[in-house]
Order: sequence, then structure tokens, then C-alpha cells
Amino acid sequence: MFATLSDRLSDAFKNLRGKGRLSEADIDATAREIRIALLEADVALPVVKDFVAAVKERARGEEVSQALNPAQQVVKIVNEELVEILGGETRRLRYAKSGPTVIMLAGLQGAGKTTLAAKLALWLKEQGRTPLLVAADLQRPNAVNQLQVNGERAGVPVFAPEPGNGVGDPVEVARQSLEEAKRKLYDTVIVDTAGRLGVDADMMAQAAAIRDAVRPDEILFVVDAMIGQDAVVTAQAFLDGVGYDGVVLTKLDGDARGGAALSIASLTGKPVMFASAGEKVTDFDMFHPDRMASRILDMGDVLTLIEQAEKVFDEEQALKAAEKLSGRGGEFTLDDFLEQMQQVRKLGSMQKILGMLPGMGQMREQLENFDEREIDRIQAIIQSMTPAERANPKMIDGSRRARIARGSGRQVSDVNSLVDRFFEARKMMTAFASGKMPGTPGMEGL
Ligand code: GDP
Repeated sequence: MFATLSDRLSDAFKNLRGKGRLSEADIDATAREIRIALLEADVALPVVKDFVAAVKERARGEEVSQALNPAQQVVKIVNEELVEILGGETRRLRYAKSGPTVIMLAGLQGAGKTTLAAKLALWLKEQGRTPLLVAADLQRPNAVNQLQVNGERAGVPVFAPEPGNGVGDPVEVARQSLEEAKRKLYDTVIVDTAGRLGVDADMMAQAAAIRDAVRPDEILFVVDAMIGQDAVVTAQAFLDGVGYDGVVLTKLDGDARGGAALSIASLTGKPVMFASAGEKVTDFDMFHPDRMASRILDMGDVLTLIEQAEKVFDEEQALKAAEKLSGRGGEFTLDDFLEQMQQVRKLGSMQKILGMLPGMGQMREQLENFDEREIDRIQAIIQSMTPAERANPKMIDGSRRARIARGSGRQVSDVNSLVDRFFEARKMMTAFASGKMPGTPGMEGL
């Protein structure tokens, strides 16, 4: 996600390291690099111009903080400006005060609307709401069926025209879905509308007719972050043709550039509200401008990581492990280690998890080459140990190692390295848990 931009920006800051004061020339040089970084990432020119001007002015200005050195200060300014162009504060969905909340999706064909409709529905369900998906995309031959399949995956019902009833009228379907929602007490209706391959007057007219029929509480414009500068043009066309309240960026997983999508909020004045980064129904979340800026600047996105962890972690188990690590509640064993690893796995791929930690940008290559099967191998090794060995890894001597290697289909050296790493990790984690760990992650090296 935004890897190029992230790399280029960190290059721009490198030259400022170790400087006690920023000269006019330093500021100019850094501003130039930031400009190139943004342009290369495909951020729209007017946005780049404003951005660079603001950073320059603030870097020159009076904002001297005792706590930060000049390089950190520039990072702070860039961070705040990035948050600003991404829409400022996190914009949350507005729900209707009475009756069902209506959310309408608009966007080009292929933008990812149908996929997104199901993702949003599942997300709403997890927030305790009872959504109803509405198939008002009757243009694309397979759209209704696709929504039904996705809806099933999300465990959310789909309201669709009866099959065999001809093509049907999407405005009528949308209108009826509201009746259905009121009758069956669904509290949120998500209307998927038809798109075309390009901006088209008929499509806009149909979307506007659906809008007038269901009077949405929120209209979300869905846009594929991979289409580059066209994203900006399309965003404007939909703003003029249908109007919308917020933007959803899709396919953020696929693009290293994606900067055009970052320009939309700033150019249209409509905030990015959600982001979608993958084809799975769970690859979806609210968009937080501050967290995204922090990710772009390689300061990590620990908040999102914590939130996801809270969703999947078994709190009791985690507490038990923490007790052990802090020296109370017995020793941290290989069983605990295995348990922890399985818990972490529920969060998703290691690549995704590690990518949210601060400073990981510099390790992107290793991250991309991370072999997820490594975790399976480690699990296989631990599972080939006897309960006694897992509880007391110190007893794992040479002959035991050979047996474990055979049992798990690995080499003795793999077993050695796992056991060594376990002791090393336990030492570190214990130090960390007892507060003896020096230094903080984040703005390291600046
Ligand atoms: P619609 O025409 O706007 O309804 O678009 P679809 O929902 O049918 O999506 C078009 C294609 O993009 C499908 O193949 C989806 O699987 C894919 N897609 C949607 N969202 C994402 C995403 O966030 N990441 C990736 N990689 N693919 C996506």
C-alpha cells in the first residue's frame, strides 16, 4: 500500500538527519524531494502544489519544538499535512434516527462495488446492525448472482428481483427493498447500483433516479485506486452527476502508487470513509486519515493492529501468557509459544501483521519474501515434541532433537534454531514485560 510514496518520502527525510538547524537550502531541497515523491506516486498536481507550499511555509515558520530535532519536525509537519489531504478527521457513517439507514453505492463497473457491498454488510453486522443487501445493479448480467454469492459469504440476506421477471427496474427494486426492510426490521439497507465502463449519462441518470427513490443517508462513491489519474476525473464526474457523501477506495492491496486516490478527498472535499484491500470479505476497514498517514511515513499502524488483535484474541489466554512473561504464573513454555502463534495467525498473514509495525518499510523486501509456510514448519516441530519437552524445553538434548527432526520431517539444524530462538525470544519478552527494554520504536534513527 503506497510503497513507492513511503520509500521516496523516507529518502527525502534521510538527508535531514543529524542537522541541528534547517537552512533555507535544506528546506528547499527537502521540499523538492517531497514534490517528486508525491508526483511519482501519482498524486494530482494541484494537491502536490498546495502540499509542498504548506510544508515549506511551516518548516520555515515559528514551529520550533524543544522536543523534536529538525528532521523529526519535518516528519511531523508532513504527517499532519498528509492527514489533512486525506480528509482530516475520521468520518464515521451517519445512521438514520428512525427507520432503516440507507447506504447507496455508486461507481464505475469493475470498481469493486458488489464486492464492497458484502464487505460493508459484514462490517455492519459485526457492529451489531442488521443489514440488507439490495441488488439494484441489473445492468451487468452476473451482478445479482455475484451479490447473492457474496451476501452468503457475509451471512447477510440479499433483496433481488424475482428471477424470470425480465430485466426489472432497478429504481423499483430499490424502492421495494425499503418496504422489505421496514417490514422485516432490517436497520441498514445497502443498495448496489449499476456502473458502466466509463462515465455515461444514462448511468448517472439511473443512479440519480435510485437516489431520489430511496433518499440515502449516505451515498458512497466507490473507486478503484489502481486506475490512476482517471480516479480523479471519475470522482468529479460522479460528484456532478449523482453527488456523494464519502469515498471508498478499493484495491489498495494491488497498487504501489495509488496517489491519485489520495488526491480525491482533497479535490472533491469528500472524505475517504472506507478502504478495501483484498478480495476476501474481511479485507475491509474504516479509513482513518491519521493512521494512513502514519503508515505512509512508516511510523506503523499499531492502533489498527491492536483493534484487529482485540477482535480475535482470547483475552484469558493472552493474560495468562503476559503473567508468565512477567515472571508470575510460571514459566513461558513452548506450549504457550505455540498457542500465541496460533492466535497471531488468526489475525491474517504475517506479512500483513508485520507490515503494520513501525519501521517495517525498510524491510519491505524481506517482508515480501516472507514465507508463510515457515510458521507451519515451526508448528510441526513443536507438535513433534512430547508434552514434557514443550513444558520444559531445557531438557531437549541431542538425541531428542534428532527424534523431533525426524518426526516433523525437518533437519536437526531447524530444531536447533527453533529452540535457540525460543530461548532468545523468551529472554527478550521477559525483559520487555518487566519494563527493562530500552528505547521506543518509531522515529528511530532520525
Ligand atoms: P463492480 O462492477 O463495481 O460491482 O465490481 P466487482 O465487485 O465485481 O469487482 C471487480 C473485480 O475486482 C472483482 O474481480 C473483485 O474480486 C475485484 N476486487 C474488488 N475489490 C478488490 C480489492 O480490494 N482488492 C482486489 N485485489 N480485488 C478486488
